Amino acid sequence: MGLGGSELVVKIFGHLLKDVIRNDLCIGCGACVAACPSYVLRIFGEVPVMKEYCHRDGFCYHQCPQTVDPKELERRVFGRNAGRDEPFGIYRQVFSVKARAPDILARCQDGGAVTGLLAELLETGYIDAAIEIGTGDLPWQPAPKVVLDRDDVLACAGTKYSRGAVIFGLRDAVDLYMREQIAVVGTPCEIKALRQMQTGEHSPYRLTDNIKLCIGLFCRGTWPYARLRRILEGQYRINLAEVAKFDIKRGQFLIYRHRKPKRMVPLKSMRKFVYGSCKVCPDFAAELADISIGAAGSPLGRSTVLLRTPAGVEAFEQAGGGRVFDVKSLEEVKPGAEAIEMNSKLKRRIAQEEIERRRKEGEPLPPWLLEKPTPT
Ligand SMILES: Cc1cc2nc3c(=O)[nH]c(=O)nc-3n(C[C@H](O)[C@H](O)[C@H](O)COP(=O)(O)OP(=O)(O)OC[C@H]3O[C@@H](n4cnc5c(N)ncnc54)[C@H](O)[C@@H]3O)c2cc1C
Ligand code: SF4
Ligand code: SF4
Repeated sequence: MGLGGSELVVKIFGHLLKDVIRNDLCIGCGACVAACPSYVLRIFGEVPVMKEYCHRDGFCYHQCPQTVDPKELERRVFGRNAGRDEPFGIYRQVFSVKARAPDILARCQDGGAVTGLLAELLETGYIDAAIEIGTGDLPWQPAPKVVLDRDDVLACAGTKYSRGAVIFGLRDAVDLYMREQIAVVGTPCEIKALRQMQTGEHSPYRLTDNIKLCIGLFCRGTWPYARLRRILEGQYRINLAEVAKFDIKRGQFLIYRHRKPKRMVPLKSMRKFVYGSCKVCPDFAAELADISIGAAGSPLGRSTVLLRTPAGVEAFEQAGGGRVFDVKSLEEVKPGAEAIEMNSKLKRRIAQEEIERRRKEGEPLPPWLLEKPTPT
């Protein structure tokens, strides 16, 4: 790599700034920051910035999930693309689960699948660290955490509806904690970044060789933290410090507060404030993960768990399956697979419409979409 005569043969951080970050297409995953071998990037206000002179090696650009076609990554991960009869991606098994441990149920978002799985995998030594999203200095501000034991995992339970540079945490786990068997939990776009890091031509092996498991969460969108805070505190008079839990169910943004009545905000009124990158994101069910987990498909208080790869199947078995969880087949519960299919198709359709609109109006698109037809 490098500069060849007057021809620029490598894309560097400046290209990320121009093609992705300044176009509101950055997902704030932290992959570029983590991969930079010269440590010249950092996350500032949810996006990467350069803090020192760039060495122009281009590692950052080639980790960015916005530079690669998800279909190409699907082929690299699964050896093929999902067929028309696989509307929410390739998988081997699917369950609806509920954690048995009361302390997990008291803290978790839905059925405690993520927390139960990670707590067990850490306790049995199957993994030696996990990267999750906990809270930063401000209430409900997402921050990447390297978690090492059950207490750490419990502290990260629950959904934060902003982004937390989860892959930046991977660098800490490897460089500061010397961990070698790491599970990473992330949104579908963060899992996409991890897969590009693992399988791309410019893979930062010193980080990716230590990833044992990628757990993806179902996702319909996230809000910039400062914007979410401004809307909830300014418009709805909801103090974030009083919030016990956020949730999205049946078209409502639900806000549970300590010793105060629950508040509901119609999701429709919040949708326009999501990140620009979420508006063109087609992946609901984290189709590139080893294990995908979400609420859709299961009744309230349970989690849907899709085991997609051999690594995902092995991890679920290692975690003790029915010992740790009450496990049901998804066919036994309502609403079942139809709900995952419906959400996946809806998200894909909304993204396609937005991509078409941006093409017509000459608005920015992620680099992977620039020379391609709109994905179906
Ligand atoms: C932004 C976002 C949007 C979602 N939207 C939907 C949806 O539309 N439909 C649906 O069915 N499910 C959605 N989910 C998934 C759902 O909220 C739960 O995460 C999932 O059902 C697992 O529940 P659980 O009880 O097993 O989680 P828990 O055991 O409580 O564990 C939660 C895990 O989520 C991680 N996490 C929390 N916030 C974030 C974040 N911002 N980024 C990355 N990781 C995070 C935590 O680190 C922890 O590992 C969404 C999740 C996120 C993060
Ligand atoms: S999407 Fe991730 S890799 Fe791309 S510029 Fe943003 S933080 Fe960096
Ligand atoms: S909607 Fe897509 S881009 Fe937005 S946070 Fe979710 S997975 Fe990432």
